[in-house]
Amino acid sequence: MAYLQQVLFLVLVATATFLLVRRIKFIKTSINLGKPQDLTDNKPARWRNMLLVAFGQQKMFKKPVPALLHLFVYVGFVLINIEVLEIIIDGLAGTHRIFAPYLGTFYTVLLNFFEFLAVGVLVACVFFLIRRNILKVPRFHKPEMKAWPFLDANLILVFEIILVVAILKMNATDQLLQARGAEHYTATGRLFFSSLLMPFFDGFSTPTLVGFERAFWWVHITGILAFAIYVTYSKHLHIFMAFPNTWYASLKPKGEITNMNSVTNEVKIMLGLQPADAAPPAEVERFGAKDVTDLSWKNIMDAFTCTECGRCTAECPANQTGKKLSPRKIMMDTRDRAEEITRSLLAGGKGADDGKFLLDDYISREELNACTTCNACVEACPVLINPLTIIIELRRYLVMEESSAPAEWNAMFQNIETSFSPWKFAPSDRFKWADELRN
Ligand code: SF4
Ligand code: SF4
Repeated sequence: MAYLQQVLFLVLVATATFLLVRRIKFIKTSINLGKPQDLTDNKPARWRNMLLVAFGQQKMFKKPVPALLHLFVYVGFVLINIEVLEIIIDGLAGTHRIFAPYLGTFYTVLLNFFEFLAVGVLVACVFFLIRRNILKVPRFHKPEMKAWPFLDANLILVFEIILVVAILKMNATDQLLQARGAEHYTATGRLFFSSLLMPFFDGFSTPTLVGFERAFWWVHITGILAFAIYVTYSKHLHIFMAFPNTWYASLKPKGEITNMNSVTNEVKIMLGLQPADAAPPAEVERFGAKDVTDLSWKNIMDAFTCTECGRCTAECPANQTGKKLSPRKIMMDTRDRAEEITRSLLAGGKGADDGKFLLDDYISREELNACTTCNACVEACPVLINPLTIIIELRRYLVMEESSAPAEWNAMFQNIETSFSPWKFAPSDRFKWADELRN
């Protein structure tokens, strides 16, 4: 029986590892659809960003209560991995609580700390479910949050509750078996929270209790492995992606828009700031972006990191004034399109040549034209995602490749070209308003 459990466990871990590796490769292929971009300068600043924003959750603390509860879920998730390590060793070696004899009293302290975190996670998940489904916080109920995104957000919370309840019940039955002197059940000392559940199981016989303990153990570890795979398909991928994403985040000031080198060179040559033969114009396949393959790899990594929290959309002035634009949807569409191309490529299909594009098939011109380039979404994002660069690249394509800007913009472009200002004044007239003040 013990061997059968070990074999079953080995099959379970091997299957989970296979599925996980396959999904990681898929995500890597999707991110590599993007164009190269070097984001490795100033490494100390990048490490600082990662430590403060991803590890320290710096940007979450604008709203202290959700931030604290989020911290519980996050720390609980990170530290629970120590316990998972023990469970995996136990499962493969056929042992039970293998760390206990080595850690002594510290083991009891550690398990009590895990239980404290587990209860914190439980409270946080219940709070998040209430906030989402009963209080109906507006940013969780925008048009892009229907169907799968809505279900995903709820599923993961329910999943975490099941895992936490399983571990508390497992510890409760384990303590009862220890008290009855059952074979293999190593003394753990009193575990505060789970011991409160012991009266519910006290009436059962020892063999039934062993059955319960084993069932909760299997539910817990199967749940954790399933959770690890599920996370890679869900918005909760940010648990892992937040680290590389904050490390590679742009270090430039938010208002700085990246110039296109080919255009800058042309303008410099026109203005006589650069000799015509100084830098031969680089081959430009396409100005701006029409599809995800025209974006940089970092834009696609941003999309896979998005937690769909909607803080960007809640701060977006265009969205607040009823426009169709939602920066969260821009990120979700970018991820969906990248996944569509990768799925097709891996299945031997046409990949990006399927006749569809990020522009128009996913993101409409109405959405793009509603953006004021204010950067509020970039400022609001807790994991340093930049939806604005994607919007700007798609708009660049519209303006530079299709000359398809709204009529008001075309007038503005012409004025800038002729009057060096958005208004129709000759440069010499621009300070006439001050003449009256002088007279
Ligand atoms: S930059 Fe655009 S998308 Fe971002 S908040 Fe401002 S208007 Fe909204
Ligand atoms: S882009 Fe950032 S702020 Fe917006 S939904 Fe995604 S994670 Fe949240």
